Amino acid sequence: MNNVLPLCILCKEPIPTRTKPEHILLNALGGRKTVSKIICPNCNHLMGIGPDNDLAESTKYIRNMCNMTCGDGDPAPQIRGHRGPSDLNLNLNPGMQIKAASKNALEISFEDDGVTVKIIAFSEQEAERLADAAARKIAKWIGIRNGDDIAKMKAEILENRRSHYEPAPKIVGDIEFGKGEAVRSKAKACLVLLGHAMGNEHALSMKYDKIRSFVLDGKLSGYKPEDFVILDSRPLPEGIPEKYGTHPNLVCVAGKEHGPVCGYFRLYGSIGWQLKLSCEPTGYEGVTCLVSNPFNPISWDVLHNDHSPLSSRWVSKNLFAEEFDFGAVTTKLDEIVRYAGTVSKDLWLLNLVKQGLDEAGCKEGDVITEEQLAHLARFVSVPLVSLMTRKSVPKF
Ligand SMILES: [Zn+2]
Repeated sequence: MNNVLPLCILCKEPIPTRTKPEHILLNALGGRKTVSKIICPNCNHLMGIGPDNDLAESTKYIRNMCNMTCGDGDPAPQIRGHRGPSDLNLNLNPGMQIKAASKNALEISFEDDGVTVKIIAFSEQEAERLADAAARKIAKWIGIRNGDDIAKMKAEILENRRSHYEPAPKIVGDIEFGKGEAVRSKAKACLVLLGHAMGNEHALSMKYDKIRSFVLDGKLSGYKPEDFVILDSRPLPEGIPEKYGTHPNLVCVAGKEHGPVCGYFRLYGSIGWQLKLSCEPTGYEGVTCLVSNPFNPISWDVLHNDHSPLSSRWVSKNLFAEEFDFGAVTTKLDEIVRYAGTVSKDLWLLNLVKQGLDEAGCKEGDVITEEQLAHLARFVSVPLVSLMTRKSVPKF
């Protein structure tokens, strides 16, 4: 066979013929552009379970909050076991839709003069299920086997319930972008983009060995991390096409004649990492940029030179760590958080109305009757009052 297998730009081993494509920007971050034969399956796997996973994890809250889907269309992540008020377990469904469960949902105490049942449920279905469990437990305790008697007991438990609508607890999530080894994943994204733009052979040059070893094992052989990675809070340049959104993700490589090659990773338009890919000229001149809209992943492109939303000069500008302005990053992130609040409220309202229509027995396509309308109005009014007053409201 004459064909020479391409070499992996990370470990420099031959890449087997059958190799799964690799995302330049993580699928979790909405990345859709894939390349093949740039990284070997082994490196891909090691990056996936390490640095890539750290980067994906560090953006979990923001993706959940804004209901950002993955590049392949998978839903935004669910966050399980979120910390909430001490007696609550919270799961956050995409779009910050809270699913609460009490840690002590069912308590049954058997005393000489009777049985006390305490149920804390967050939906009618849950109350039914817990009442059923309680009735069965009591029946077993007192030796009842008859199904009708158990059903009666369950009905009795449910009869005494009091229903309230509780306002959703305030959610505090961590938005941290520097988690663990995430920066290695960003450096890898830049190297893979370079391999894509210039070919594996170019990316295999010894001049990229330092950043390569940093991507592989986090080691910088005698250098300090700040010599390689500088955080950037500059606003993005004007004129980035609207289709990429106000908070695009960007992966870039830029090289100047007689200058070093820079990598650049911008997350949600808010915070950037400038990475030194090589300290000396490598023959790469120009700029290549992958731009992607995290709110609409189908809107992405890989653009070169004059078409690139970030210029070579902007990407490789001399940055100084002390110029980093945390306030600027927070302001930019606040815009996303505010947007997320709207997304979350819209989704909540939509679900509430859907649930109300369902309860009223109205199916999609049906003409809604006056009676159903009245039912819907009753159903949505309590949660709405609770939302607006942030108080517990008894159901009627
Ligand atoms: Zn490899």
